[in-house]
Amino acid sequence: MSMDIHKTIHGDYVKFTHPTAGHEHQQKYAAQHLIVGNEYQIDKVVVHSWHTEVFLKDHKEPFNSVSFDNIPMFEKELPEITYPAQCSCGHLFLEKYRLSEPNKNGEVGFCWCGFCQTKLMIKPAQNP
Ligand SMILES: [Zn+2]
Repeated sequence: MSMDIHKTIHGDYVKFTHPTAGHEHQQKYAAQHLIVGNEYQIDKVVVHSWHTEVFLKDHKEPFNSVSFDNIPMFEKELPEITYPAQCSCGHLFLEKYRLSEPNKNGEVGFCWCGFCQTKLMIKPAQNP
Protein backbone atom coordinates (compact mmCIF):
# COMPACT_ATOMS: atom_id res chain seq x y z
CA MET A 1 0.00 0.00 0.00
CA SER A 2 0.99 3.59 -0.44
CA MET A 3 -0.83 6.88 -0.12
CA ASP A 4 -3.90 7.72 -2.19
CA ILE A 5 -2.54 10.43 -4.47
CA HIS A 6 -6.00 11.64 -5.46
CA LYS A 7 -7.34 12.10 -1.96
CA THR A 8 -4.32 13.58 -0.24
CA ILE A 9 -4.49 17.34 -0.02
CA HIS A 10 -2.57 20.25 1.40
CA GLY A 11 -2.48 20.03 5.17
CA ASP A 12 -2.99 16.25 5.37
CA TYR A 13 -0.46 14.08 7.16
CA VAL A 14 1.32 11.06 5.72
CA LYS A 15 3.66 8.59 7.32
CA PHE A 16 7.07 7.70 5.87
CA THR A 17 6.68 3.92 5.78
CA HIS A 18 8.38 2.61 2.63
CA PRO A 19 12.07 3.57 2.74
CA THR A 20 12.99 0.95 0.12
CA ALA A 21 10.36 1.97 -2.45
CA GLY A 22 11.14 4.07 -5.50
CA HIS A 23 14.42 4.69 -7.30
CA GLU A 24 17.72 4.46 -5.50
CA HIS A 25 18.40 8.20 -5.58
CA GLN A 26 14.91 8.82 -4.15
CA GLN A 27 15.55 6.35 -1.35
CA LYS A 28 18.83 8.06 -0.54
CA TYR A 29 17.25 11.49 -0.58
CA ALA A 30 14.39 10.35 1.66
CA ALA A 31 16.79 8.64 4.08
CA GLN A 32 18.74 11.87 4.42
CA HIS A 33 15.69 13.98 5.22
CA LEU A 34 13.03 11.76 6.79
CA ILE A 35 12.76 9.27 9.62
CA VAL A 36 10.89 6.01 9.03
CA GLY A 37 7.60 5.94 10.94
CA ASN A 38 7.43 9.70 11.37
CA GLU A 39 4.48 11.77 10.17
CA TYR A 40 4.90 14.64 7.77
CA GLN A 41 2.52 17.33 6.61
CA ILE A 42 1.69 17.62 2.92
CA ASP A 43 2.32 20.86 1.12
CA LYS A 44 1.14 19.63 -2.27
CA VAL A 45 0.90 16.52 -4.42
CA VAL A 46 1.82 16.75 -8.11
CA VAL A 47 0.62 13.83 -10.23
CA HIS A 48 2.64 13.06 -13.37
CA SER A 49 1.86 10.33 -15.87
CA TRP A 50 4.42 7.86 -14.50
CA HIS A 51 5.16 9.05 -10.99
CA THR A 52 3.84 11.38 -8.33
CA GLU A 53 5.80 14.03 -6.52
CA VAL A 54 5.00 14.72 -2.91
CA PHE A 55 6.04 18.07 -1.50
CA LEU A 56 6.23 18.12 2.27
CA LYS A 57 6.04 21.15 4.47
CA ASP A 58 9.54 22.48 5.24
CA HIS A 59 11.14 20.47 2.41
CA LYS A 60 11.97 22.13 -0.90
CA GLU A 61 12.57 19.05 -3.05
CA PRO A 62 9.77 16.57 -3.74
CA PHE A 63 9.65 12.97 -2.55
CA ASN A 64 8.07 9.98 -4.29
CA SER A 65 4.48 9.12 -3.29
CA VAL A 66 5.36 5.40 -3.04
CA SER A 67 7.37 6.14 0.11
CA PHE A 68 4.33 7.17 2.14
CA ASP A 69 1.08 5.91 3.62
CA ASN A 70 -1.93 8.02 4.48
CA ILE A 71 -2.81 8.38 8.11
CA PRO A 72 -6.43 7.25 8.26
CA MET A 73 -8.91 9.45 10.04
CA PHE A 74 -9.74 6.77 12.60
CA GLU A 75 -6.14 6.55 13.74
CA LYS A 76 -6.37 10.16 14.74
CA GLU A 77 -9.61 9.40 16.63
CA LEU A 78 -11.51 12.18 14.93
CA PRO A 79 -15.25 12.21 15.57
CA GLU A 80 -17.64 11.54 12.76
CA ILE A 81 -19.32 14.67 11.45
CA THR A 82 -22.68 14.92 9.74
CA TYR A 83 -22.92 18.20 7.91
CA PRO A 84 -26.33 19.62 7.05
CA ALA A 85 -26.71 20.09 3.31
CA GLN A 86 -28.61 23.33 3.44
CA CYS A 87 -28.41 26.62 5.28
CA SER A 88 -31.57 28.04 6.88
CA CYS A 89 -31.53 30.72 4.15
CA GLY A 90 -32.14 27.97 1.57
CA HIS A 91 -28.71 27.87 -0.07
CA LEU A 92 -26.44 24.84 0.02
CA PHE A 93 -23.46 24.88 2.30
CA LEU A 94 -20.53 24.82 -0.10
CA GLU A 95 -17.76 25.06 2.47
CA LYS A 96 -17.32 22.51 5.23
CA TYR A 97 -14.49 22.50 7.70
CA ARG A 98 -13.17 20.22 10.39
CA LEU A 99 -11.53 21.61 13.51
CA SER A 100 -8.22 20.03 14.45
CA GLU A 101 -9.73 19.17 17.81
CA PRO A 102 -13.12 19.74 19.50
CA ASN A 103 -13.49 23.22 20.99
CA LYS A 104 -14.74 23.96 24.50
CA ASN A 105 -18.36 23.72 23.35
CA GLY A 106 -17.79 20.21 21.99
CA GLU A 107 -18.04 21.44 18.42
CA VAL A 108 -15.88 19.66 15.85
CA GLY A 109 -16.44 21.52 12.61
CA PHE A 110 -18.48 24.13 10.85
CA CYS A 111 -20.27 25.00 7.64
CA TRP A 112 -19.97 28.38 6.03
CA CYS A 113 -22.79 29.86 3.97
CA GLY A 114 -21.35 32.42 1.60
CA PHE A 115 -24.78 33.75 0.70
CA CYS A 116 -26.01 34.92 4.10
CA GLN A 117 -22.51 34.95 5.67
CA THR A 118 -23.51 32.49 8.37
CA LYS A 119 -21.16 30.13 10.12
CA LEU A 120 -22.92 27.08 11.57
CA MET A 121 -20.95 25.17 14.19
CA ILE A 122 -21.34 21.37 14.11
CA LYS A 123 -21.27 18.84 16.94
CA PRO A 124 -20.32 15.19 16.41
CA ALA A 125 -22.94 12.92 14.89
CA GLN A 126 -25.32 11.55 17.53
CA ASN A 127 -26.10 7.86 17.60
CA PRO A 128 -29.85 7.39 17.12
ZN1 LIG B 1 -27.30 31.00 4.32
